Amino acid sequence: MNNVILIRYGEIFLKGKNFGFFEKKLIENIEYSLQGIDCKFQRMNKRFFVSDYKVNDERKIIERLKTVFGIHSISRAVMVEAEESKINEYISSLSLRENTFRISVNRADKRFPINSIEYSKKLGGLVLKNNHNIKVDLHNPDVDINVDIRENGIAFIYYDSILCLGGMPVGTGGSGLLLLSGGIDSPVAGFLMAKRGMPIHAIHFHSYPYTSEMAKDKVVELAKILKKYVGEFKLHVISFTEIQENIHKHCNNEFMITIMRRIMYRIAERLAKNIGCQSIITGENLGQVASQTVESMTVTNAVVEDLPIFRPLIAFDKEEITTISRKMGAFETSILPYEDCCTVFLPKHPVIKPKIEKCIFEESKLDLEKLIENALNSDEIINI
Ligand code: ATP
Ligand code: MG
Repeated sequence: MNNVILIRYGEIFLKGKNFGFFEKKLIENIEYSLQGIDCKFQRMNKRFFVSDYKVNDERKIIERLKTVFGIHSISRAVMVEAEESKINEYISSLSLRENTFRISVNRADKRFPINSIEYSKKLGGLVLKNNHNIKVDLHNPDVDINVDIRENGIAFIYYDSILCLGGMPVGTGGSGLLLLSGGIDSPVAGFLMAKRGMPIHAIHFHSYPYTSEMAKDKVVELAKILKKYVGEFKLHVISFTEIQENIHKHCNNEFMITIMRRIMYRIAERLAKNIGCQSIITGENLGQVASQTVESMTVTNAVVEDLPIFRPLIAFDKEEITTISRKMGAFETSILPYEDCCTVFLPKHPVIKPKIEKCIFEESKLDLEKLIENALNSDEIINI
């Protein structure tokens, strides 16, 4: 008998010919997540499990597995020889404090001599014999005992299933450059794209000295939280000070935010192409603020030449976003009160429905090419 943690994968089981590619990535990501813990990861007939760990490390292993996209659920289990006598012995040894139970046998190995229904009944009898106050409840039991008899002479017995993140293994879904601010939304946007298998890098614009070092540290902190789910990546910190000062000095103040965002997107696209990212990801959300109207998104989209822009939060309510932010452990950091560069030189009346001709006219007052080049040259790369 051996304590193990069983791992079930999610959506990748729908894959056909390329299943192997998805499975391989998932295995890599699981192994990466378990780094530094003394344990053994094994794959056996489309079942994964972790074994040979110290009891004290069990919780840590479960917490780590709960950060891996592509895992549907996990169960603490015991592994026994798939022999009737061994399974009976284990089930007979159970001492249950609950009031009701159910026992279900899954016989993947059809050579096992008793069929599932018969064996469930037999094992149920053994539980009843040794636990006097317990009753069978097939619909809503306090404890649900599962016996999974595999083809290779091994059976897993487990009770609980812990639901994990689901999604696809990171590394199977293209790549994206995340515009990461210090707010609630953008870390969640990165998390959701990674959930669909997309590895990310991040870009952050800061306006030192208008924004503080602490504001930057906060973004680094958020990036580290994302790393738990997406793996190692690079955070590119770009100085936006000169750009904001120039817009403030030369352009109609009402267009401040719109033009800032158009320049952010231009820089993001160039950086994305330089570092081989295939898309841009933002935390924008329809109607949340002035810069997040359809008209605003139209004029910001217009400057991006040929990369798709993903806005996974576009239709979410703030409450839904906050729930995910808490779940990923970012919320407490996101609400720390440091300023974002978007709040510097904020106009009293920003345009809500900007016209593209007006944006182009305002931008003609700037040496755009030079400003973008200087910003890209300011790139400070932080390994997360
Ligand atoms: P967030 O909570 O992500 O800050 P927000 O609701 O504050 O979003 P905006 O400030 O309008 O909304 O920003 C919209 C999106 O633009 C952000 O989700 C993020 O992707 C990007 N963004 C905003 N500020 C920055 C910044 N300083 N650096 C990088 N990206 C930014
Ligand atoms: Mg913001």
